[in-house]
Amino acid sequence: MNPSKNPIYLDNAATTRCDPRVVEAMFPYFSEKFGNAGSRNHRFGWEAEDAIEQAREQCAAVIGAQAKEVVFTSGATESNNLAVKGAAEIYARAPQGQRGRGHIVTVAHEHKAVLDPVHRLEREGFDATFISPPPDGVITAAMVEAAIRPDTILVSVMWANNELGTINEVPEIGRLCHSKEIIFHTDATQWVGKMPTNVEADCIDLLSWSAHKIYGPKGVGGLYVRRRKPRVRLEALQDGGGQERGMRSGTHNVTGIVGFGKACELCRDEADAERPRLLALRTKLERELTSRLDVTQVNGHATRRIPGTANISFAFVEGESLMMGVREIACSSGSACTSASLEPSYVLKSLGIGDEMAHSSLRLSMGRWTTAEEIDRAISLIEGAVNHLRKLSPLYDLHKEGVDISKIVWQTH
Ligand SMILES: *Cc1c(COP(=O)(O)O)cnc(C)c1O
Repeated sequence: MNPSKNPIYLDNAATTRCDPRVVEAMFPYFSEKFGNAGSRNHRFGWEAEDAIEQAREQCAAVIGAQAKEVVFTSGATESNNLAVKGAAEIYARAPQGQRGRGHIVTVAHEHKAVLDPVHRLEREGFDATFISPPPDGVITAAMVEAAIRPDTILVSVMWANNELGTINEVPEIGRLCHSKEIIFHTDATQWVGKMPTNVEADCIDLLSWSAHKIYGPKGVGGLYVRRRKPRVRLEALQDGGGQERGMRSGTHNVTGIVGFGKACELCRDEADAERPRLLALRTKLERELTSRLDVTQVNGHATRRIPGTANISFAFVEGESLMMGVREIACSSGSACTSASLEPSYVLKSLGIGDEMAHSSLRLSMGRWTTAEEIDRAISLIEGAVNHLRKLSPLYDLHKEGVDISKIVWQTH
């Protein structure tokens, strides 16, 4: 077998393979059971509606919610948009026509699907504070408290960061927001399905998650909307048939929703067993790479991270060459070499990581089918590629001779 044709998949934070058991559950709803859940007067419609309501129960169970608090969407991007814009519209406080219709607190290294909606709200007259993360990437309740103002209407802080895997102080931030009667949204896309979640105990008002990050299909996700203490209201983003209690019009994606439900059920049954296995794989990967290769650092908090995600920077290698050198591993890079901009990851930069170290970073994310053999192979492939590139690096030679590179005064002519 040619390994370059069959790369090791270590990009589970980007998307996951749909579990065959999920595909099997979805299958009848493509053709045999094809009804529209909105058709209230025949069997085809009832069948689809029953399937959706069963999926709603399965999705609610994985986050400790009631079924009727789950709104189905097209994924976490839409859930985040609905949560942030929908809540801002409803809870806007200043009288009509006045500038400053309320203040929103979020974080500089959120996913773009939160940052961009908040930027749009700023253009519409809202104020926003983007908390700068500390070097370990973990957002605490104290940091949120310091950012809250008397006119704050919404706090949006992700549970686990998608590039780093770092875990923010979500239950504590939830309790803080409840004590101040501020709506709290969390983008829990990297968290739910992997880690224990209870929207009640964790004081969450709005929670976004997505099927394709937890072994379900792409194009379907959920938004939890709290119904009591407080009853959270949202302005819909789109109008139409009034599905999902008017919060998300549009014919239901029945197959996708059935798959999302099944994916949540499987996570609920299996995540407890998967966690220690993934943690062991990640620990081995990080320990081996940082011990075999000098000037190599794990980005983000050392331990406060979800089990399957590692983000590692290798000094004295160039990002693009590193990606080429590890072609047999499907993973992500902090280097934006494939995009139009040459800016490295804004997430790593927000932690104060320099451009060089951000460009030479790899995000390696494990999942349900990652094996110990694959991790062993990935370790040797990365070790080989980094050593090869450093052989070509005059700066690495200077470093080994004990020269402090940062103190060199470069001659310009
Ligand atoms: C993947 C991801 C999203 C986007 O989810 P989609 O379902 O692909 O729209 C949003 N936030 C985080 C943290 C993610 O990891």
